[in-house]
Amino acid sequence: MKPFKPTTVIFRENALEYPLGKKLYESFKEEEKIKIHIVAPRGPFPLENNVSFRKKFIRAKKTLIVSVRSLGKFQSCKPSAHYQLPLVTGCPAHCHYCYLSTNLGKNPYIKIYVNLEEILDKAEKYIEKRKPEVTIFEGSATSDPLPVERWTGSLARCIEFFAGEELGHFRFVTKFTDIESLLNLKHRGRTEFRFSLNSNYAINKFEPTTPLLEERIKAASKVFQASYPLGFLIAPIFIYDGWQDEYKDLIRKLKESLDNKGKRISFELITHRFTRRAKEIIEKIYPRTELPMNEETRQFKYGQFGYGKYVYPEEIRQEIEDFMRKTINEYFPEAEIKYFV
Ligand code: SF4
Repeated sequence: MKPFKPTTVIFRENALEYPLGKKLYESFKEEEKIKIHIVAPRGPFPLENNVSFRKKFIRAKKTLIVSVRSLGKFQSCKPSAHYQLPLVTGCPAHCHYCYLSTNLGKNPYIKIYVNLEEILDKAEKYIEKRKPEVTIFEGSATSDPLPVERWTGSLARCIEFFAGEELGHFRFVTKFTDIESLLNLKHRGRTEFRFSLNSNYAINKFEPTTPLLEERIKAASKVFQASYPLGFLIAPIFIYDGWQDEYKDLIRKLKESLDNKGKRISFELITHRFTRRAKEIIEKIYPRTELPMNEETRQFKYGQFGYGKYVYPEEIRQEIEDFMRKTINEYFPEAEIKYFV
């Protein structure tokens, strides 16, 4: 699939004082068909306001904001890591179920933070504070950072930074496949590279504008050969006619493409869930979606952040868990299943 290219890039003036801000400005200036704006650090964006919710949403997915991240406390990031590492917010893809649609509001711009060295300095302080424990940072808590990597190089910088940190580990997850620039970096096993996978049915129906399963598996195999610790997030898992065959097929294909002798692979498994607010937003943005969101077939459950969500009923979740654990154990007996939710 074609690499992501924004239609509009908005620079906060103060971002241009940083080397990454300058580099991005020089690169985007050379590109055809990209509108560039420079705005004050807290000024409004020069975008037409009188457009529908849906149009604003779609426009925001093609708009990059280059800015300076204010450095308060890092957010915690359970169960994936100790802290979020803020590199990018947002993602150009249109997965119907994406949690960012609810979290980022009607304007889910893709924001790139140029004060990367300050962010890494701050990470260093967290590592120091938790010594002698290892501190894990998650680079994709509010984004898929890979689609903009060819412009920013931020993941590459982080991977090399953590290679030099004995007590700091980095992890991120992606559905994208432009991984070539990361393959030859010195990572010293301190970055866990994870791919988000799903069955063909789920990818075709609910993950438009993302690479196919086969492309993701091919990219994962290259990452594995580059000796990165490798993980797979299978999410969200759906129940539909033939779901067991397709999820089994996914694990089987993974096994065929990875020679994992002696190397650890991890899995994180998440079943589909939705909130009432997410459902309202999804129906506005993707009015023809076939995403299963019938509350009557679900169980209402309060999550760790205090709001309720609709999950599969307990007996179905148990069935999914038993099936996924059994299948993964069959093909990858040494793999670690970090969690199932
Ligand atoms: Fe959301 Fe990930 Fe899909 Fe991007 S790729 S829209 S972050 S689910």
